[in-house]
Amino acid sequence: MKIKVSSIPEAGERYQETYLPQVLDLERFDVKVNRPFNVNYHILKEGEEVFVRAEVKVCLEIICARCLDKAEFIIEKDYNFTYRVKPTDILDTTEDIRQEIILDYPLKPLCKPDCLGLCPKCGGNLNRGECRCNLNQNWGGENGVT
Ligand SMILES: [Zn+2]
Ligand SMILES: [Zn+2]
Repeated sequence: MKIKVSSIPEAGERYQETYLPQVLDLERFDVKVNRPFNVNYHILKEGEEVFVRAEVKVCLEIICARCLDKAEFIIEKDYNFTYRVKPTDILDTTEDIRQEIILDYPLKPLCKPDCLGLCPKCGGNLNRGECRCNLNQNWGGENGVT
């Protein structure tokens, strides 16, 4: 969101902005957003400071760290920013929103908390019951266990 500092009323104001994924250019950081998303801003000006609360709900496309399936991961969070401003400034929150989403992107995203992952033997997706190892193999002392 870009806004002239001079146009922010002293009493504060609410704004909504819809971001297109390409505007935030998150793909450069391996964060994939498929759909436009809304940010609700609440902005307050006090002297030379502007306080911004940004209510963000964004749906990311992730690759599950366990089963390698594509899945969705939703970030729903309020971010707070403080800016020191001059009356002639134009405030731009885009970079801060981008940084926060990148920070909140999970390092090891899972398609669901109890994802079963892949069978280490056949690579079948255990969530989808693709593994037939248990049915086909003979478990009798295969690993030399006595
Ligand atoms: Zn998974
Ligand atoms: Zn298997």
